[in-house]
Amino acid sequence: MAKDRLAEVLEEWEAVIGLEIHTELTATNTKMFCGCPVEFGGEPNTRVCPVCLGLPGALPVPNEVAIELTVLAGLATECEIAPRSQFHRKQYFYPDMPKDYQISQYDLPFCQGGHIDVEMGEGDDSYTAHVGITRIHLEEDTGKMVHVGGAEGRLAGATHSLVDFNRAGTPLIELVTEPDIRTPEVARRFARKLRTTWLTLGISDCNMEEGSLRVDANVSVRRRGETELGTKAEVKNMNSFKALHDALAFEIVRQVEEIERGGRVVQETRHWDAGAKRTSALRSKEEAHDYRYFPEPDMAPFEFSQEYVECVREKLPELPDAKKARFATDYALPSHDATVLANDIEMAAFFEEAVAAAGVERSKLVSNWMLGELSALLNAEGIAVGESRVTPAMIAEIVELVEGGTISSKQAKEVFAEMAESGDAPGAIVELQGMKQVSDTGELETIVERILEANPDEVARYREGKKGLMGFFVGQVMKETRGQANPQVVNDLLARKLEG
Ligand SMILES: [Zn+2]
Repeated sequence: MAKDRLAEVLEEWEAVIGLEIHTELTATNTKMFCGCPVEFGGEPNTRVCPVCLGLPGALPVPNEVAIELTVLAGLATECEIAPRSQFHRKQYFYPDMPKDYQISQYDLPFCQGGHIDVEMGEGDDSYTAHVGITRIHLEEDTGKMVHVGGAEGRLAGATHSLVDFNRAGTPLIELVTEPDIRTPEVARRFARKLRTTWLTLGISDCNMEEGSLRVDANVSVRRRGETELGTKAEVKNMNSFKALHDALAFEIVRQVEEIERGGRVVQETRHWDAGAKRTSALRSKEEAHDYRYFPEPDMAPFEFSQEYVECVREKLPELPDAKKARFATDYALPSHDATVLANDIEMAAFFEEAVAAAGVERSKLVSNWMLGELSALLNAEGIAVGESRVTPAMIAEIVELVEGGTISSKQAKEVFAEMAESGDAPGAIVELQGMKQVSDTGELETIVERILEANPDEVARYREGKKGLMGFFVGQVMKETRGQANPQVVNDLLARKLEG
């Protein structure tokens, strides 16, 4: 679907988006209510016990570390930590959940009423999107169904289904936002920033492909100026930030077109098909009362003392907003640079390492390379900075080579492309390709004089006032030196000779 179509639709219509983000607390090592290990994969049904298999009579014992990590997540997102909270049973039947209920939280979640601010746009167009966080609650994950004999991962056409309970009982936090999000891009940036926050806290590996971070979205549309909410659809199965963005863009346009055609939006769960780039209806959406929540009778309610909450608060590391402020102050970075770097945990670490090598006075130059060539490379290859051949030391070295006048900025781009490809150090590439920039005034002076002698007409016209000819002379010197002359030195020399 064309991006323009979304922009067109959003002129008259407004999208209302809320996100539900499930994160497995992989840092706990053990499951939520038993001692089975939390790990991805493994032989099916090898990490199970009577508790996580839901055998009759087995009693749940809450995982203290998981509760602390949930409180930490709440504090990191400016939530209030409830003085009194408890677990509820959420009843529903599904084969990957043998108890026929999931231990979750209902009206007394651990964390409520937080927010995350998302920086949007650049320069004069920049603004902050305030996204409220309704709640963060803790629950147990379900097992996993594997449908075999049919199309991969889909029930349709499968001849039989298998169930693996290794994941059952993994501690899972669900964060629910207020319906404050208005565009797919805000949703994408919010999810990215949240992931960076979780990674900074170290509560989860946040691997979207393995499902430890799962983002679902509630989407509705209304005409601009209206205040009532439209009927929402829930979109699932988006396992990358790009998928989240694209699925929302598709769904917004679909709903608007449905209404404009005289139809109506149905409350339902829709599945994002990344291959076909469309959402399709999966099932009608359950209401909260369908689940018949009631307090979990096998566990007492929780009461958190202020002392306990403060004790957890002391464990908070430097979060993205604080990091952004520090980058702006300590490295004198413009707001945009500081935001982009601080909101990506890997980029932030890479930046600080490169600056440590290049010198703090070259921070902006390092940032330019990272937000420019390096980001373009990562986007093009669809990889994270840690997977690239480019290291912080290489960026520091390339900045030094340009600053020291060894190579021109134009040559530096060639060196960058080469080092990204081969993994060789910039200095070695410059050496090997004989790329060194000529800054030697004596050597360049001879060339400049020769060129001026060979072009007497141009020299005369320049002296009569055709100053634009400077570009012609610089070009001649560059041609003569195969692009290796230091442009600054050439400009200075030419100016002196022509004016003199
Ligand atoms: Zn277990």
